[in-house]
Amino acid sequence: GDLGAETAAEVERRKRTIGPTSVLFYEKPLHVVSAEGVWLHTADGGRFLDLYNNVPSVGHCNPRVARAVADQVATLNIHTRYLFDVVHAYADRLLATFPAPLDRVAFTCTGSEANDVALRLATIATGRSGFVVTEAAYHGNTSAVSDVSPSSRPGKALAAHVRAIPAPIGKGDVGRRFAENVRAAAESLEQSGHGFAGLLVDTIFSSDGIAADPPGFLREAADLTHGLGALFIADEVQPGFGRTGAGMWGFERHGLLPDVVTLGKPMGNGIPIGGVVAREDLLKDFAESVGYFNTFGGNPVSSAAALAVLDEIEQRGLVANAASVGGYLRDGLRELGRLHEAIGDVRGAGLYVGVDVVGAGGAPDAQAASRLINGLRDRNILIGAAGGFGNVLKIRPPLVLERRHVDIFVDALDACLRAG
Ligand code: PMP
Repeated sequence: GDLGAETAAEVERRKRTIGPTSVLFYEKPLHVVSAEGVWLHTADGGRFLDLYNNVPSVGHCNPRVARAVADQVATLNIHTRYLFDVVHAYADRLLATFPAPLDRVAFTCTGSEANDVALRLATIATGRSGFVVTEAAYHGNTSAVSDVSPSSRPGKALAAHVRAIPAPIGKGDVGRRFAENVRAAAESLEQSGHGFAGLLVDTIFSSDGIAADPPGFLREAADLTHGLGALFIADEVQPGFGRTGAGMWGFERHGLLPDVVTLGKPMGNGIPIGGVVAREDLLKDFAESVGYFNTFGGNPVSSAAALAVLDEIEQRGLVANAASVGGYLRDGLRELGRLHEAIGDVRGAGLYVGVDVVGAGGAPDAQAASRLINGLRDRNILIGAAGGFGNVLKIRPPLVLERRHVDIFVDALDACLRAG
């Protein structure tokens, strides 16, 4: 093909070694060698505008994070069973961003681990084993978490203790409809003998295709969940750390109080760290009944990275930046929607934006979405796809994005749409 000899050789080497579990983006995979801010640099000297990667949320190769990691790794790094200033300082700073009853954090290495712990907290707290999730949700890769990730098992039956309901996307009273679906799913879990232990939702509904409006729509489902004696678990792996532009956490937009909050991805700007935030009593019952140890979770280097991330978010005003640049981005996309029929609903909050790509009669068009994503790649811009039909453009850049970058993107998308 037209991959180029160097890229083709790299693809071949990956196949020979990493093999079956290796999934690459794009018909023409990217061979990246370095990065800075919102830009990725490739082996052939190219430069790509990154509107996809939420892990390096305070910017690729952020200097403050890089320095904090280098200093800490040269000073001390070890497993987690000693006293460490940097770890305790981070825990203090992190918990200060949560409402009062959420007063403890257990550190993990990944979002999957955090959700795995969350499921166990809910099972222990309620004595029940059933969970409600959304139809195209992804919550991680452990055995238990795969069971509550319908997007990982397309076409396969759900586990007996799991119910999947439609994501709260669409017209009318989405909050009411969502809560009614939770109620029906909870009843079904009761009837099957599993009982309703928890509602687990990504509060921006990333893999379901992004659901953000109206703010507050999750409140009714959270109240219902609590009324049924179950836990509300907010998976903040995607919306957390300021992405939605309305405070640090996605659940804040909904005016609700989760029982358990799970964290990951942007937490260490790429240094692995995740966490589970909950009331002390929940974590105490869990620790006493099953015990918990995580060798690397929140180690000194991870904590140093995460502390630098919080400093960057606060000192550079990145939550406000997400709100303002995100608003500008949605305006630009809606403007394009008036010119091109393929652009349907534009949704999102802050710098998490979803765009429906539609065909005749407004039907989801995954092929057209894929053409646009590959067309943008050919114009050196990276975005992704989401949604149960794969037709939602997923735009989720580092939070240091500026308006001039949005202009580059909107012009390129316009050109792709004109190219057909
Ligand atoms: N929850 C959500 C909402 C996610 O998007 C992901 C990762 N895509 C995870 C959990 C799992 O995180 P990790 O890959 O760090 O295990």
